[in-house]
Amino acid sequence: MVKILITDPIHEEAIKILKELGEVEIATDLSKEELLNKIKDVNILIVRSGTYVDREIIDAGKNLKIIARAGVGVDNIDVDYATEKGIIVVNAPDASSISVAELTMGLILAAARNIPQANNSVKSGKWERKKFKGIELYGKILGVVGLGRIGQQVVKRAKAFGMEVIAYDPYIPKEVAENLGVKLLNDLNELCKMADIITLHVPLTPKTKHMIGEEQINLMKKNAIIVNCARGGLIDEKALYKALKEKRIKAAALDVFEKEPPKDNPLLKLDNLICTPHLGASTEEAQKAAGIIIAEQIKKILNG
Ligand code: NAD
Repeated sequence: MVKILITDPIHEEAIKILKELGEVEIATDLSKEELLNKIKDVNILIVRSGTYVDREIIDAGKNLKIIARAGVGVDNIDVDYATEKGIIVVNAPDASSISVAELTMGLILAAARNIPQANNSVKSGKWERKKFKGIELYGKILGVVGLGRIGQQVVKRAKAFGMEVIAYDPYIPKEVAENLGVKLLNDLNELCKMADIITLHVPLTPKTKHMIGEEQINLMKKNAIIVNCARGGLIDEKALYKALKEKRIKAAALDVFEKEPPKDNPLLKLDNLICTPHLGASTEEAQKAAGIIIAEQIKKILNG
């Protein structure tokens, strides 16, 4: 009997399919020691972004055949090492693009109109209409960093708001940008200079780590808003903290942090930082799709 271990919550429809394939154990919030212990007998490990599958876990998984990520980003899995060990890594890259794009638009609007701050203010008995004067998205320049699945969905939505869109993505064919009506730039710094709102949609890799640092932030407009629904490590949080504290840019809206949960992160103390707890793919639709896609992939692999 194939042993399947699920260490982050996945959709019940996916669990139903998996139960037809083998013996399923659901154990979320495991410590590393607990996972190291459990992984020994497991053939298939299923995670989302909450479980770190490093070399140590892979080495302990003597019977591991498949690691499945019910979602997009696989930066919490040492894919190269797993592959070297003959373990197949599967994910569901298409499942959450729309959900993440919609949250991105939500955060852009929230930052542009100070929605979270205004909400807190009204609930605390105040009525501060002047304090929360915002800006329109219409006519503003949106800088999209990473014009892949999510970036493209964001572009379509931003266009509906009447935004002008520029993008930086050295790997995307220029026809993709042309078809979307987007001006593709060759230089990230140029995008940082030109955009009113900057949104990140690139994977976290050694190359993209801290791609938004002090240099890029210093180039941004005084009223710039930066949104990150991709991965925390893309922005140098120390540089961002300094810039927000000194009001060198207007605001940042983050769904992701370098360390999650961001306990004791000084960014959380700032009024011009709004955030959500890595909710990009947390919709009924995205979760269901991600779960089913990986369960079906596992079924295919097992059936040869
Ligand atoms: P994708 O692979 O379709 O698109 C990524 C794009 O980034 C590609 O077009 C690629 O060419 C581009 N890129 C790579 N390196 C770059 C660089 N150095 N500079 C500029 N562009 C670069 O991925 P996607 O489905 O659009 O997802 C993007 C990221 O969003 C994921 O890697 C993941 O980390 C994140 N994500 C977050 C959530 C969430 O819950 N917040 C959910 C899903 C995905």
